[in-house]
Amino acid sequence: MDRPRITIFDTTLRDGEQSPGCSMNVQEKLRLARQLDRLGVDVIEAGFPIASDGDFEAVQSIAASVRRPIIAGLARACKGDVDRAWQALQRAAHPRIHVFLATSDIHLQYKLRITRQQCLEQAREAVSHAKSLCSDVEFSPEDATRTDVGFLCQVVEAVIAAGTTTVNIPDTVGYSMPEEYGNLIGTLKEKVAGIDKVTISTHCHNDLGLAVANSLAGVQQGARQVECTINGIGERAGNASLEEIVMAMKVRRDRYAYETALTSEHLFASSQMLAEITQVPVQPNKAITGRNAFAHEAGIHQDGMLKNPLTYEIMTPQSVGVPDSRLVLGKHSGRHALALRCEQLGHQFERRELDDVYRRFVVLADRIKKVQDSDLIELICQVKTGTTVEATKAVSPNNGVSSAKKLPAAAVPFQRAVSAAAGAGNPHPAQISAQISASTGQATVSIGFAGHHSGPHSDRRLDHHADHHGEQEDYLWGV
Ligand SMILES: [Zn+2]
Repeated sequence: MDRPRITIFDTTLRDGEQSPGCSMNVQEKLRLARQLDRLGVDVIEAGFPIASDGDFEAVQSIAASVRRPIIAGLARACKGDVDRAWQALQRAAHPRIHVFLATSDIHLQYKLRITRQQCLEQAREAVSHAKSLCSDVEFSPEDATRTDVGFLCQVVEAVIAAGTTTVNIPDTVGYSMPEEYGNLIGTLKEKVAGIDKVTISTHCHNDLGLAVANSLAGVQQGARQVECTINGIGERAGNASLEEIVMAMKVRRDRYAYETALTSEHLFASSQMLAEITQVPVQPNKAITGRNAFAHEAGIHQDGMLKNPLTYEIMTPQSVGVPDSRLVLGKHSGRHALALRCEQLGHQFERRELDDVYRRFVVLADRIKKVQDSDLIELICQVKTGTTVEATKAVSPNNGVSSAKKLPAAAVPFQRAVSAAAGAGNPHPAQISAQISASTGQATVSIGFAGHHSGPHSDRRLDHHADHHGEQEDYLWGV
């Protein structure tokens, strides 16, 4: 029997990037976009082109170099935004313009100061314009879950008539309960003319911890696209977590008879890469990707696990890409095993960089026998930040040069060791050894909430185009 296919729309680079401390530069976004491609997401929302030149550039470069998935760019419902989004997306193999406009009375009255009729017209016009540029158009009625249902149906019907191909229903403020959200999707399916010709999408925020539950409820009522982010990052309490959505459908196929195109074995590496780039740690008990997600400490659990893993394990660590605990990296491990292990931890290397990691690894392995993931991550960190042996030796620990970019606690994965074998050998300069010995240890857990102190995200962005949108400017970050 064919199972309905769910489109996974990843918005880590747009909504996710709105989290405090999660901003990324163009290169970092590109790196993550390539990982999302590898993971198999169907749509990458690469940014909000009008928001800043950096966002524009990120969308443009992702569109040019990540060719398999659909690349979406966000736009408010006005010509300037739509044109700018299209400009950024033009080189995409599969572009999508994502238009949004608030529809709830509270947003219309206090934020946009327009009537329902004006809202309807603005939505229709913006979608028609987007459609004249790009065949793939998504529309989001922002704050849909607090919008009068009759009016919501009217807006959705209007944008479908204007050419929308995906209708996204955001629970912008994370207010819905699962049954309520599911019913809303069901109502739209029942009442809106033409709805069967478009894809219905969920977009749920996690203010009450229900983003994943709400998204799944939406799917059960007919939504076929889920918007989500790696590690569930996003505005305030975040978005629905991509890894939880995907694994819920995989582990509970009996209840959620749907398919996604994702390779779940890449989930852990994707999570690690995001934590490393943003330096925002994953909470240890985070489902699927937290470092304790597969740890068993209680004696009775350990006893059960040893007798049969199924006693306490509903999915294997390997199924989400947590590296195999039976392998141990040691001094006989070869370059290939090391590269594989780095990849599992979310790091791909060019040959020259890998050489550097390998050289340091061999020296360390000679000294400490078993190289734990935390040790390896520290090595990777040194290579990425260009910390040199000389620099480290030459400066005191507090002057900033020697403290390599620290990784978040979450990037120190499971206290499991890994292995593989091959020949190594070779000279190990004493000074490298000394430097490594100084840098191992607990440095990797010292990052707290990077960027927490920084000001509101929107302030920085608004500076760039302050003259563009007058009153609506304050409400740049919707959906
Ligand atoms: Zn959102």
